[in-house]
Amino acid sequence: MLETQVIITGAGPVGLTLAIDLGRRGVRCVLLERNETSIQLPKMERCNARTMEIYRQLGIAEKVRDAGLPREAPMDVFLATSMADPPIVRLPYPSVAEAKAEIAARNVGQPLEPYQLISQYTLEPLLRSIAETLPTIAVRFGWELTTFTQDAVSVSAKVRTLNGADEILRASYLIGCDGGASTVRKQLGIQLQGEGNIRKLRQALFQCEDLYERIPMGKGRHYHIAEGPLFPFIILQDSTRHWTLHAAAASDREMAEIFRKSLAMPIPFEMISVNEWTQHLLCAERYAQGRVFIAGDAAHLVIPTGGLGMNTGVGDATDLAWKMWATLGGWGGPQLLASYDAERRPIGLRNLRASRSAMIGRLGWRAAYSTSIREDTPDGLAVRAEMARRFDVEQRKVTEILGIEAGYRYVDSPIIWPETGDGPDPDNPQYVPTTWPGSRLPHVWLDDDTALHDHLGPSYTLLRLGKTPVDTRGLECAFQELRAPLDTLPVDSERARDICGCDLLLVRPDLHVAWRGNKLPEDAQAIAAVTVGYASASDSQSCGPNAKTIGFD
Ligand SMILES: Cc1cc2nc3c(=O)[nH]c(=O)nc-3n(C[C@H](O)[C@H](O)[C@H](O)COP(=O)(O)OP(=O)(O)OC[C@H]3O[C@@H](n4cnc5c(N)ncnc54)[C@H](O)[C@@H]3O)c2cc1C
Repeated sequence: MLETQVIITGAGPVGLTLAIDLGRRGVRCVLLERNETSIQLPKMERCNARTMEIYRQLGIAEKVRDAGLPREAPMDVFLATSMADPPIVRLPYPSVAEAKAEIAARNVGQPLEPYQLISQYTLEPLLRSIAETLPTIAVRFGWELTTFTQDAVSVSAKVRTLNGADEILRASYLIGCDGGASTVRKQLGIQLQGEGNIRKLRQALFQCEDLYERIPMGKGRHYHIAEGPLFPFIILQDSTRHWTLHAAAASDREMAEIFRKSLAMPIPFEMISVNEWTQHLLCAERYAQGRVFIAGDAAHLVIPTGGLGMNTGVGDATDLAWKMWATLGGWGGPQLLASYDAERRPIGLRNLRASRSAMIGRLGWRAAYSTSIREDTPDGLAVRAEMARRFDVEQRKVTEILGIEAGYRYVDSPIIWPETGDGPDPDNPQYVPTTWPGSRLPHVWLDDDTALHDHLGPSYTLLRLGKTPVDTRGLECAFQELRAPLDTLPVDSERARDICGCDLLLVRPDLHVAWRGNKLPEDAQAIAAVTVGYASASDSQSCGPNAKTIGFD
């Protein structure tokens, strides 16, 4: 029998990210993948700003960028009647190089990293190669989890290995990152709730060497073709020589014809693959049971409009990794792992709503279509103008949702010290920097041009801002008593104090704010107890100014 600390089932982008995070923290894991190789088909193609911040924390952001779309490539989105026609609408979005220059030039609390276009079939092998360098991770491709059992202290998993033999693995925890049809979720009896099987689409992958350089309307990443009823949607892949086409075509063969018609230029291409995929808006009724957890598509399935599939899963992974590290390290309280469901499921549901809104927006501009759209007549002109007007509003629900991507807040989390009042709108599509407890620490450039995020280590950090003279030893001692690692970081920058809006900030290993204030309350032990998971924030006794500490003495 193989013994480890954590079994991760599924080496998609979420399982791989989780394995890298856990492995870097020194947690021993076995990563199981039933397929013998990484994904070959196209799926996601854009890591959002928050995912790229997470990859920066893991030390791999530049590797992801090196493997992805060249940094100078524009990220524009177009609506046109064909790839050869002038655009009806062009929504300009900066290349990574331009976005990085903008982030470097301004110090207004916007995310530290911009998006990165990288095809899932490029990202997965890259993450796999990184995971394989970590001595703490055993990566097993061709190994399929078939069943598992759990008791009070461990999980035993039965695995069919590459040579067909069965192997038993034993671990403290099992995490199902095994996608929409998750074996782990099903065996736990956890139901998916929401709208399933909304629509079936075909996706084809094309190799087309010359197209990128020859598009008259310009280089971009998304091209929506205003041609009803199929509305072909063409997406640039990271090589710039590969493209995907999405359309509800009746057959695979039809996909090539739709692509040819959408190009409307004599450009040679090869259709490499076609597959069907189904749109769902579903979320699991719970994310954990006992020692078994689910993350990524195993826990939530969104329509990719808005790019909230894998990116939401990467958020699950970063939330779960440090909590598991803390619990296995013996210092994390029982509320830590219990808070995974309380923190991440509301984000799954929120992102599902954002995805639905993006999809409805898309249907909204498509509804303006009429066959006269190409005509040089008053009617044709009016159709184009109305579709342009709607696209300009609705498409932004897909491409301008930085608040959804990076502004999520763990509202009502049992391990976040609550603050009175409602706080800023956690569902605002626009990103507004805030340190309201539960939010992600905003990015700030410090006086020496380094990023505040880069100064935070793998542990909790107590930020002392604005040269505060406050004595914080009470909180530091409380963490010591719990054996929970806490770094104290004085930050003199006035800009950081302005953006953070307070003198003291307790930041978790995943960069979310656990508590903030200008002075320590009398019972700093209560803050430590809640944020390290020994007491629940909803227990008003533990949170009051004269709170008693619970769970440790
Ligand atoms: C057309 C399309 C476009 C998309 N675009 C985007 C986008 O731009 N941005 C975005 O964020 N998301 C996008 N998504 C969604 C994204 O692809 C998924 O959210 C993402 O793949 C989920 O990652 P995952 O690791 O959770 O699951 P998966 O990628 O599904 O990986 C699960 C893995 O588990 C393995 N597995 C399953 N069962 C077992 C078992 N019993 N034992 C061992 N291994 C097992 C599978 O083989 C698979 O490799 C898109 C999806 C589609 C279909």
